[in-house]
Amino acid sequence: MTRPNAFTKVAVPAAILLAVGWSIWLWPSHFLWVYPASGALFLWFSWSGEREVKYIFLFLVTAAGFIMPKLSPEGDSLFLTAGAIAETISLWLLFYALSHFETACIAARQRLEAEEEEAAEKVKNLEDELARYRLHLDSTLARIRDKGALAAAIHDMGSASTPDEVRGRLETLLREYFPGASVELRTGAPRDFADNWVAERKIPLLVRNSDADSRFNRGFFGPAERSFMALPLYLFGRLVGFVRAAASEPDRFKSEDLRGAELACTLAGVSMENIYLFDKVKELAIKDGLTGLYTHRAFQGRVEEEILRAARSKVPFSVIMADIDHFKSYNDNFGHQAGDTVLKAVAEVFAGGVRDIDFVSRYGGEEFALVITGADKAQAAAVAENLRRTLEARAFNFGGRPSRVTASFGVAEFPSEGAAASQLVRASDERLYKAKEGGRNRVVLE
Ligand code: GH3
Ligand code: MG
Ligand code: MG
Repeated sequence: MTRPNAFTKVAVPAAILLAVGWSIWLWPSHFLWVYPASGALFLWFSWSGEREVKYIFLFLVTAAGFIMPKLSPEGDSLFLTAGAIAETISLWLLFYALSHFETACIAARQRLEAEEEEAAEKVKNLEDELARYRLHLDSTLARIRDKGALAAAIHDMGSASTPDEVRGRLETLLREYFPGASVELRTGAPRDFADNWVAERKIPLLVRNSDADSRFNRGFFGPAERSFMALPLYLFGRLVGFVRAAASEPDRFKSEDLRGAELACTLAGVSMENIYLFDKVKELAIKDGLTGLYTHRAFQGRVEEEILRAARSKVPFSVIMADIDHFKSYNDNFGHQAGDTVLKAVAEVFAGGVRDIDFVSRYGGEEFALVITGADKAQAAAVAENLRRTLEARAFNFGGRPSRVTASFGVAEFPSEGAAASQLVRASDERLYKAKEGGRNRVVLE
């Protein structure tokens, strides 16, 4: 229930007082009215919160209790005096009860207020704590996002298939990681003070504020290089390049950023090493170490591919098998090293004597197998004849002893003389044997 407003607060007691005053005026002997009326005023003031006013009325009414019987026109009767005393006592009792009740109310309200205050304090603390947690959560989420992006980019870098692709992805990663900053990847020798610093110490460089870094002259840095990072790029332990990131505002890069960038550079290096190693292994599997020609295995693969292509295009191709004549005795006469040199020279002659689209392999020992694309037997035989003559014309000299080397050739055509790789090889091998039988240093196609 709302308390009365200022007007009602005054108007109600004024009305009661007027009524009491008027009735006493009219009927002075009925002055005992003043007591219940005062009781009503007590209750009114108590309820309306004007507790002090009660004291004035209590004083006034108590005084009236003594005076009124004497002023009464009926005289100072015992009845009136006793009535006045009884009513005064009841008024005091009411006063006492009201005061007691009000004190209890005040105490209760104070307790409530204290509790409210305490609760408000607790709520405030909890809100502060919540705000702190939110901040922490935000930064943790941001870190997780960064780490996730970094992990995805690193994975992406690992799946690149050429060193250029790795370099491109490293640049993209750093640009995404440091939006707005300039990122540059340089290969080769150091080009400026920062490259030299990194190359000398073999550690990355972080300059938080180029205006206030005592290690370097301010003039070294451009206006867009207030924050600055320089990192080395290694390949198989060798310094092969530098990564540079710069921003025009100070304190753009923190040591955590430098660590992240360093990790990305290391992983880029490892990715490039993997690509080189993978290519090397691939090459080892398909290239002969002595002559640099393709291996027997690569030849098999190439013949299979060629069969598919020729079957589709209906254009024939041919296989040439070649074998160096009397190579055993050549080795015996000139030594194995000379023999190896001859093998390399023969490989050179063969590889140089065919088109780029043809295929030359070392089939094994001193035997070679060639695929002549889009050529029938006659065309391939012409190629073989050319190779034979070139080799025959070549002069060797080991230890001051001149020598010459010849080879025999067998030719077979797809698809008329063999629809499968093994048949083609067998047919050309048989003709090679025939060439040997026929006196060596010749081409046989029938
Ligand atoms: P033919 O004219 O009948 O082919 O006689 P050949 O002596 O060439 O044939 P044979 O198969 O009897 O001997 C092949 C020789 O090739 C034996 C081996 O010493 C030599 N040879 C095979 N591979 C290599 C190699 O990598 N280096 C050297 N130096 N010699 C090799
Ligand atoms: Mg042989
Ligand atoms: Mg031989």
